[in-house]
Amino acid sequence: MNDSVSNAALGALTAQLRIIPREQHSISRKDISAGALRVLYRLNEAGHAAYLVGGAVRDLLLGGHPKDFDIATDATPEEVKRLFRNCRLIGRRFRLAHVVFGNEIVEVATFRGHTDDGSGDRHVIDGRIVRDNVYGSIEEDAIRRDFTMNALYYSIADFSVRDYVGGYEDIQRRELRLIGDPVLRYREDPVRMLRAVRLAAKLDFRIAPEARAPFEELGELLLHAPPARLFDETLKMFLAGNGLKSFRALEASGLLVDVFPLTARALAFRGGESFRVLIEAGLASTDVRIAEDKPVTPAFLFAVLLWGAVRAQAEREIAKGVEPTLAWQRVSHHVMDEQAKQVAIPRRFGIVMQEIWTLQPRFEQRVKKRVFRLLAHPRFRAAYDFLMLRAAESPAVVELGSWWTQAQATPHEVLAQQLAGNAAPATAAAPHALEPAAAADVASAEVPAAAKRRRRRRRPGAGPQTASE
Ligand code: ATP
Ligand code: MG
Repeated sequence: MNDSVSNAALGALTAQLRIIPREQHSISRKDISAGALRVLYRLNEAGHAAYLVGGAVRDLLLGGHPKDFDIATDATPEEVKRLFRNCRLIGRRFRLAHVVFGNEIVEVATFRGHTDDGSGDRHVIDGRIVRDNVYGSIEEDAIRRDFTMNALYYSIADFSVRDYVGGYEDIQRRELRLIGDPVLRYREDPVRMLRAVRLAAKLDFRIAPEARAPFEELGELLLHAPPARLFDETLKMFLAGNGLKSFRALEASGLLVDVFPLTARALAFRGGESFRVLIEAGLASTDVRIAEDKPVTPAFLFAVLLWGAVRAQAEREIAKGVEPTLAWQRVSHHVMDEQAKQVAIPRRFGIVMQEIWTLQPRFEQRVKKRVFRLLAHPRFRAAYDFLMLRAAESPAVVELGSWWTQAQATPHEVLAQQLAGNAAPATAAAPHALEPAAAADVASAEVPAAAKRRRRRRRPGAGPQTASE
């Protein structure tokens, strides 16, 4: 079996069926969602083949709880739609049926073929599939999937598991292998390299040596992957509960540089160690939030992943004499644009991400008016959480973090009194590399002498805060 798999270009690949009967595997119907069971039974009663497939079968065999249940059938999408009132057809590249039960959506896909039948429905450019909508047999459906562990079919007719590519054994051995020749399969779809890294990290699988070997040579194919798809894959890597593991695996795979080049470079530079601590702390706390069912946002994630680059570039600009607020805004913009060429960052997240960055130097301005303005900023909480992550950068940042923790716990009137009493010293007490000029803080303190200076310094429209407020 293995020989025929690894020798074959996909078209020539032959599937060999192994049936694992119910009494020999651990999948029980009680672990399958009610919606998925209804779809499976209904298709079956209507005379169609109906299987649970993909990640759900894999996860069930590993004792996990799948987050979604995908179904494969020989019924066409139109036939599926006729069987279910609560069904809509979606997708252009692949037509799929979604059957909706309350908040559960069961995805039903018709077996997909892998040979061009001349209908013009399949397009390959430079070995890459760009459109693939040919229906096929279950064997064809199995071998066009990515990894052997993802190509198992649980039959509702006899509760057996059908294995055409040796996936059952690979799951027992906890080994990730590609179906067919890894080089061809990665060339066809480079994102499979990221999927391999992500799934192996999540499941604690070993990536088979021949599946790992092409990364070095083929990694740069990811530079041409569609940015929107890389955004989706990024969320699956880092915002699905296994962010820290995924990050470590991605870095070890050598592929980080192909997806997040600025991050990889910042990690290699001076200050890279504290940046690594920040990334790891950020991802670990994100994983905890997800485990606790708390919301997470891509904006914060991207702010974490790109901070090393933003910080280094802002420091350089400021050292060259660029006014700090302006430097932070420019650099934030620039870093976002650079990264978005590779991984799309939807605008609504990009804006928040930049705010998190540009608010960082403002934590250093601990004078009354600015303190209250920052506390009331809609992005204060995210920016403060981010500041706390930066603890490894320097003792000054730790001190700053404690100050703001304290400030939030202090009643407003008390805080106002404290700040009125020691406006100047409070700011000067924490000199910090990010913004050497403490003069700006003093300028806006609400003491008569400084008020005069402030008016002189802030030209209309050039106020440092206007852009982020
Ligand atoms: P997850 O736990 O992240 O959902 P998954 O394996 O279910 O993992 P999905 O993206 O939900 O991943 O894909 C469902 C199934 O579709 C996979 O198990 C696999 O069989 C197939 N598949 C997904 N992406 C590809 C791809 N790029 N190439 C070939 N087959 C794929
Ligand atoms: Mg899935």
